Amino acid sequence: HAKVGYRETICFYDAEIGAAVRKRRQLAEALRYALEHDELEVHYQVQMSLAAGEIHGYEALLRWTHPQFGPIPPSDFIPLAEENGLISSLGAWVLRRACMDAAEWESGYRVAVNVSAVQFMDSNLPRLVHEVLVETGLAPHRLELELTETALVKDKSRSLHVMRQIKALGVAMALDDFGSGYSSLETLRTFPFDKIKLDKAFVDGIQEDRQSMAIVRAVLALGKSLEIPVLAEGIETGDQMSILRAEGCDEGQGYLLGRPMPIGDLARHGRSTRADALQDGEKPGDAV
Ligand code: C2E
Ligand code: MG
Ligand code: MG
Ligand code: MG
Repeated sequence: HAKVGYRETICFYDAEIGAAVRKRRQLAEALRYALEHDELEVHYQVQMSLAAGEIHGYEALLRWTHPQFGPIPPSDFIPLAEENGLISSLGAWVLRRACMDAAEWESGYRVAVNVSAVQFMDSNLPRLVHEVLVETGLAPHRLELELTETALVKDKSRSLHVMRQIKALGVAMALDDFGSGYSSLETLRTFPFDKIKLDKAFVDGIQEDRQSMAIVRAVLALGKSLEIPVLAEGIETGDQMSILRAEGCDEGQGYLLGRPMPIGDLARHGRSTRADALQDGEKPGDAV
């Protein structure tokens, strides 16, 4: 095989890293441009009660389609925005958009907005939330913020302070991706969450392995004793849905119940979802 000297190896990696850095910088520039030129969009994914099949609300999920690169997943551009400080304006934009949209829904459904760890700690989030609620006229109880544990671990007393201020506005707080990260029990003991979102990984494993099933049961029991409703994320099959329902899981979200979709498609989806729920003898609720 070809003999590659030490120097050449270094040069090779340098070039590669250089290209990756340039690509990231280019992407960051493009994201800033997208934010300023309205190239971002918010899609909505339904959250339902599993027992009654009623719609409770929608999670707002950010979508970015780059003119050349095509759709870029949030898992790529959110960390980028966190690194270069763009996350605060990005987060403010999503919050405003989602509250404006939800304020138009006659049904009174709730909207859940993701808040990044950096945004939670850096910006004056309680003030922003208050301003946006006043601006859009959305009733505070119709807004929920989703937060992962990463957001809370760095500075607990400050996190607790921020969280209490937000809750004092009447806005609910959900613990996102529960079970996937840090010391979850300590988080639940310390922070006054209104909902636990059980990470998709456990729902995926519910039929495959005893461990996942055992953990799902334990989390549901924990939710019951703490009197915090549990929402299962990433439900994709009818079997997963029936198991979770039988185990007494309060709410669910996932492709089976509805994909994230543009605001314009929500009304139609609301009607078909209600039609599905009617099999169980439900009374129809209001469409979006
Ligand atoms: P998340 O908050 O846990 O959102 C759930 C993710 O799971 C979404 O991915 C959703 O599209 C996806 N999902 C829902 N149901 C299913 C299912 O049945 N199967 C599968 N395979 N996936 C499902 P998405 O939209 O790509 O977002 C990924 C993550 O990016 C989110 O995870 C959240 O952490 C972050 N994110 C998205 N939008 C925002 C935002 O506006 N602000 C912030 N800070 N983060 C956001
Ligand atoms: Mg979320
Ligand atoms: Mg999640
Ligand atoms: Mg997630």
